Amino acid sequence: MTKITVAKGDGIGPEIMDATLNILKAAGAQLDIEPIEIGEQVYLKGYSSGIAPESWESLQRTKVFLKAPITTPQGGGFKSLNVTTRKTLGLYANVRPCISYSPYVATKHPVMNVVIIRENEEDLYAGIEHQQTDEVTQCLKLITQPGTEKIVRFAFEYAKAYGRKKVTCFTKDNIMKLTDGLFHKTFEKIASEYPDLESEHWIVDIGAAKLADTPERFDVIVMPNLYGDILSDVAAQITGSVGLGGSANIGADYAMFEAIHGSAPRIAGQDAANPSGLLLGAVQMLVYINQPEIAEEVHNAWLKTLEDGVHTYDLFKEGISTKKVGTSGFADAVIERLGQKPEKLEPVSYDAESNHQIQGTFQQLTPAKKELVGVDIFLHWNGENRDPNVLGDMLSKFSSGPFEIQLITNRGVKVFPDGLPETFCTDHWRCRFTSEKMDKAASYEHVIKLSQLITEAGLDIIKTENLCRFDGEIAFSLGQGQ
Ligand code: NAD
Repeated sequence: MTKITVAKGDGIGPEIMDATLNILKAAGAQLDIEPIEIGEQVYLKGYSSGIAPESWESLQRTKVFLKAPITTPQGGGFKSLNVTTRKTLGLYANVRPCISYSPYVATKHPVMNVVIIRENEEDLYAGIEHQQTDEVTQCLKLITQPGTEKIVRFAFEYAKAYGRKKVTCFTKDNIMKLTDGLFHKTFEKIASEYPDLESEHWIVDIGAAKLADTPERFDVIVMPNLYGDILSDVAAQITGSVGLGGSANIGADYAMFEAIHGSAPRIAGQDAANPSGLLLGAVQMLVYINQPEIAEEVHNAWLKTLEDGVHTYDLFKEGISTKKVGTSGFADAVIERLGQKPEKLEPVSYDAESNHQIQGTFQQLTPAKKELVGVDIFLHWNGENRDPNVLGDMLSKFSSGPFEIQLITNRGVKVFPDGLPETFCTDHWRCRFTSEKMDKAASYEHVIKLSQLITEAGLDIIKTENLCRFDGEIAFSLGQGQ
């Protein structure tokens, strides 16, 4: 018996969870279920994340969470339960298989079998945002070496465990050379540890276009959080239906399994919803808790049900479907087919011997020699027609140690010295102080002294960002605009 925590959620949640659990039970899954309440009622009781403290205790006990969708109440003050759960439980990997079931589910891409592996904790989702000036807001994009190594290694380990052939990486490192550059570099390094697997990298824009156009050329795709968030929905949709997608969120100690769709309140309580997304999430859970035989039996019975044309309303099509069923009728049809394999669709097989608790590990870095060689001082300045030369002349008066003004940019475009008068300027200025060749080491005292001089001159410092060399290499964008 494996202990799991189950939440039935809101809207169609209870119906699709009952259907899913009935199928798992009939297949002989060894589950010891702890139910918890999450979602709308819990939010309305005053828990801002939609989950009560005692529910965390259940998760700490079981470490495995099967979760139905919830409804987030309208209005402010409510935090996303999904984001809270991912962060609290350290669920760094989001795994979303996106598979076509043509001709049973209409799709423009009948040959599609892609698994999107999305980094789940970092990137722009760290939630560090600031309004810095009247006109400018900022969101910090954090990409870390341990976070990237974990997700990339996870993707390769996943490909190995599931007999897949190729891992593709999407980034935008032609623009974000440090952050996405770290992701891409890490991908290349880890790919070399898996010589039996093909690997490739695409810039995310053209990669996304190829994914939407010819998904059959992809196998496993790993990407940072934001690209993964968007493209995993695109990939699920182009299989023909997001209603069939299940996903896993995996961490070092915890895992959560769910459908990718929401609580669909309009069809709730009508025994109409398709339980397939949650069921496929539960299949991933069975593999994870090392019950691969049950996972295989359930998955194949589900494929057989689909190809027999027993469909819920969302998939039902005259000529292809043979029987329209509701949520519970669909579950009964899957149960009737336990032990059978599909004849037209490809049957699945979950290797009993392979690694089911896939993890991405990372290596501790040896700290580099870090030298401070400059500082970017960000100013909120709205003076004299926003003329960069006026600001530049003011800042030319200040120096501290080796630091002198070298450059001012506005939204990343160089405006001083020798800017173009046509450049549109906001009230947000990045002022770079270094030595001319950015090679003279200084100390933070110099930053403090410079900041003091600038503040005393009545200028408004938003923030400072240190410019460093790591082992002699420049470790900041040169940022002079395109
Ligand atoms: P939704 O995914 O719930 O529903 C969109 C439409 O898709 C529905 O009207 C229905 O026609 C169809 N649909 C979805 N699931 C289906 C199923 N299993 N069977 C048949 N048809 C299905 O999206 P929404 O209406 O935008 O969101 C409703 C609520 O769900 C919102 O409160 C949203 O915040 C929440 N939500 C929760 C999760 C989650 O808990 N993981 C994810 C997404 C949305």
